[in-house]
Amino acid sequence: MPEGTAASRSASEELKGGSSVVRRIVRTWTINIANSAVFLFTGGRKVLHEGRYRRGTWIDWYRVFRCHPHRYAEPTSEEEICRLVAGAEKVRVVGAGHSFNAGPLSDDLLLSLDRYNGATVRDDPGRPGWKIADVQAGIRLRDLNRVLAAQGAALHVAGSTNPQSIGGLIATDVHGTGRDHGFLSECLLSLRIVDADGKAATFRRGDDVFHAAIGGAGTCGVVIGAEISAEPAYNLAKAVKVVPRTWAEANLEALLVENTHLSFYYFGGLVHSADRDRDPRLALVRMNKWNRTIDPPDAVRGVVKILDELFDMAFSGHLIGVARAFHVTDWLGRAGMRLYALAVNHRAVVYAAEEGFPRLLYFRHDEIEYGISRENLTACLEEVQLLLAERRYPTIIEIRFTPDTSQALLGPGVGRPTAYVELAPSMSRKTDGVFREFEEIVLRHGGQPHLGKKVYLDRDQTESIYGTDRMQRFRAARRSQDRSGKFLNEFTETVLGG
Ligand SMILES: Cc1cc2nc3c(=O)[nH]c(=O)nc-3n(C[C@H](O)[C@H](O)[C@H](O)COP(=O)(O)OP(=O)(O)OC[C@H]3O[C@@H](n4cnc5c(N)ncnc54)[C@H](O)[C@@H]3O)c2cc1C
Repeated sequence: MPEGTAASRSASEELKGGSSVVRRIVRTWTINIANSAVFLFTGGRKVLHEGRYRRGTWIDWYRVFRCHPHRYAEPTSEEEICRLVAGAEKVRVVGAGHSFNAGPLSDDLLLSLDRYNGATVRDDPGRPGWKIADVQAGIRLRDLNRVLAAQGAALHVAGSTNPQSIGGLIATDVHGTGRDHGFLSECLLSLRIVDADGKAATFRRGDDVFHAAIGGAGTCGVVIGAEISAEPAYNLAKAVKVVPRTWAEANLEALLVENTHLSFYYFGGLVHSADRDRDPRLALVRMNKWNRTIDPPDAVRGVVKILDELFDMAFSGHLIGVARAFHVTDWLGRAGMRLYALAVNHRAVVYAAEEGFPRLLYFRHDEIEYGISRENLTACLEEVQLLLAERRYPTIIEIRFTPDTSQALLGPGVGRPTAYVELAPSMSRKTDGVFREFEEIVLRHGGQPHLGKKVYLDRDQTESIYGTDRMQRFRAARRSQDRSGKFLNEFTETVLGG
């Protein structure tokens, strides 16, 4: 069955632009309200936002990308995975469906490793107190974190949420934010991967297939297992503060040295200037800092987390949309930041490491994210904010940082200390038009794409970003795993080439 139709058939009404504004808003609000109810009812433990397969259709977490695979399978053993791959014409793998593009879609075989999700933990013989986890790639990050915590261990760093599968996180080289550590891929010691003939092999650091599979969007085979290094468990003090934007930008270098993990939320497109001479950027930004501490976790941390999530949902999921409808985004931006400053400033809450990084982040939203070199951040951000103000397009802009420690061949943070610029607008507005303009800006600043989020590049643009040598290494590794293009779909062919 040809794969070419997968992405086009997948595009939902929202992407084709066929959905009315009212329908889009009602759908987004219904999903947000239902999720808030489940969130409150389960004491902040659960929401309904994961990819799922039902009655012949697979659909992602935010209900935008879908496909109708000829066969959907949830194998439970390596032998079964190998047999399924060997017998299929085309194969894609899906984890939690937490990516924002057509990457997981398949018309032929769609594999879920949800039932191939075990983990065992042993002592690292080389480093006292450290552990090595042998995991099956379907395990979700939240479950791996629990298994590690029970053994007194934790990952160096994590992204901003945790329902994803380890296979999906590897395939998109997931990143968090950090001075010394930034990527899950830093912790990987080896990967077990099934090739297009259905043969499984183990690849280690130094093998090109190992580095190409990280960030390779599933094109180098099915990642079925990993050896993951974890350090002794630690605690994190998380402090949130609203600060003047100009102060944050002037002191960025010092802040990056002082804090082990740092990120910012800018609020773009909230201030629009009828008066052409007025700066349309909001004067305040939210700064998030995480630092290691020997203090024990706070008793109130669970309640604080629930309140933070509810505030995010109210502000990003609902209020911004309402404010825009009544043309009061300017007012909301200023008042919201001041209120937020009153509520959160001067508060540092201590979490166990595995609780400190992730949140549920469950308002229905879209994302596009590029990594740029740090020296371009201020100029790039200014252009992005001007674009959002001009388009009157309210959205959170998340800024994060990683050192040059990614193990991927291709990825947003590969090859340099990186600053990430991410837009995360509510789905109550169309995203593709502004996202394309955003992409043009970040590309001018040397942007590298996150392949787990929206991307509009073609293969030539990708090649010009990474250079011919790196792309040739990537393609050679990919070909050694898959001569016939079994693991490609329309999305990966467009962005990475056939
Ligand atoms: C609320 C939210 C917060 C997020 N925060 C962050 C963040 O902080 N940092 C960040 O970097 N990203 C973040 N992301 C993006 C997301 O985590 C990644 O894109 C990740 O890939 C999703 O994992 P998944 O298991 O859901 O994979 P899926 O979305 O199911 O799949 C992603 C890609 O990986 C491939 N794939 C999946 N499993 C395998 C496998 N076993 N072998 C080979 N290929 C495979 C799929 O085919 C697909 O191309 C966030 C997403 C959401 C929705």
